[in-house]
Amino acid sequence: MSRSRKKGVAILGSTGSIGKQTLEVMKSFPEELQLVAIAAGCNVELLNEQIHDYNPRYVGLTRKDLKDTIINVAGQKVLFGTEALAEIATLQEVDIVVVATSGTVALLATVAAIKAGKTIALANKETLVTAGELVMPLVKARGAELRTVDSEHSAIWQCLIGEDVRAVKRLILTASGGAFRDYSLEQLRDATPEQALKHPNWNMGRQITVDSTTLMNKGLEVIEAHWLFDLPYQQISVLVHRESIVHSMVEFHDGSIKAQLAVADMRLPIQFALMYPSRLKGLGQEAYLDWSKVSQLNFTEPDLVRFPGLKLGYEVGVRGGTYPAALVGADEVVVEAFLKGKIGFMDIPALLKTVLGNHQNAAVSLETIQGTIEWARAEALSLCQQRRRTIFM
Ligand code: NDP
Ligand code: MG
Repeated sequence: MSRSRKKGVAILGSTGSIGKQTLEVMKSFPEELQLVAIAAGCNVELLNEQIHDYNPRYVGLTRKDLKDTIINVAGQKVLFGTEALAEIATLQEVDIVVVATSGTVALLATVAAIKAGKTIALANKETLVTAGELVMPLVKARGAELRTVDSEHSAIWQCLIGEDVRAVKRLILTASGGAFRDYSLEQLRDATPEQALKHPNWNMGRQITVDSTTLMNKGLEVIEAHWLFDLPYQQISVLVHRESIVHSMVEFHDGSIKAQLAVADMRLPIQFALMYPSRLKGLGQEAYLDWSKVSQLNFTEPDLVRFPGLKLGYEVGVRGGTYPAALVGADEVVVEAFLKGKIGFMDIPALLKTVLGNHQNAAVSLETIQGTIEWARAEALSLCQQRRRTIFM
């Protein structure tokens, strides 16, 4: 690729929280980045707006039944169905694929993009959580570049630049603690979806916002870090840091600790992944931390009794195989059930534990991951229905 050519970008999940922010970041770099393609699942209204505003050459919509609702303003090529994601991710004009879809819908597309030699800007957590064992060896074998967008992992990546990973004693992932960090066990039992969705520091999609309140998000991030940085679980720890200014840290064998600090704004790690190794000015004044407003930085050990999600993350990570896929599949269903008021907040970890207890581990392949997710979803759904009957009896 010639150095002067703009980098072609495809965004899978352009209508989501990360997808929208990626489009915003790209506005600051018209000389460096060129939007080639966007893809989404069912939010046709927003997709149509994005087609109008950003004029991508290719558009993907996985819901085939919504085909007739796409407005083709400038002769874009529109692709339909789940297979559209892989088609878009491997287009010749695309250099960087931003994987900003939720769940595992883009797993095959991500694998295809790695095989096609694309640079992957990976926001999606489920890819490495469920399939890190397949994806990371593939990345190495193909010499592909996988740049993380998740803020904690971006922080660790930034701390590790120029360092030898063998010098690392441990990674310290920080967690805001979510909306319920100060709730007692009693209060957690009665916590409502509205309360859970009010994240104190970040504005994110619904699933990840609820996952932050249970610390399940941090549990998944521990697994993500294990695969990304190739370190055992004993070398990955978590601290609750309520200010969300230190995005994560690396402690080295000599006792030094490197931390990455910045305002809590996902556009910064998105920009870093798109523009690496450049550190050009992207956001305006909001990118800069106002130290006059930072009076203290607090760090505490996570409470695994009130928030067992983190413990579950470690447990399934250590067990390996399809356990993480079972956790991801079940978590999607129980979080949705909680948001719909069908189960209580503390039912979330309890039901996840039951699903995991019923799971039979298997060796990881794209097929077993998909099969496990479907099994775990069905299992969790049935448990939620039973739970609901008990509540209303
Ligand atoms: P959102 O729920 O806001 O967005 C999800 C995106 O995925 C939407 O564009 C949605 O399209 C698309 N999508 C969902 N299902 C399908 C499908 N079947 N086919 C095609 N597209 C689909 O999620 P977030 O942006 O919050 O998160 C995305 C990923 O990034 C998650 O894995 C999350 O854990 C991770 N992440 C997010 C962070 C954040 O700050 N939000 C931070 C770090 C990681 P549509 O709505 O049109 O169906
Ligand atoms: Mg994160």
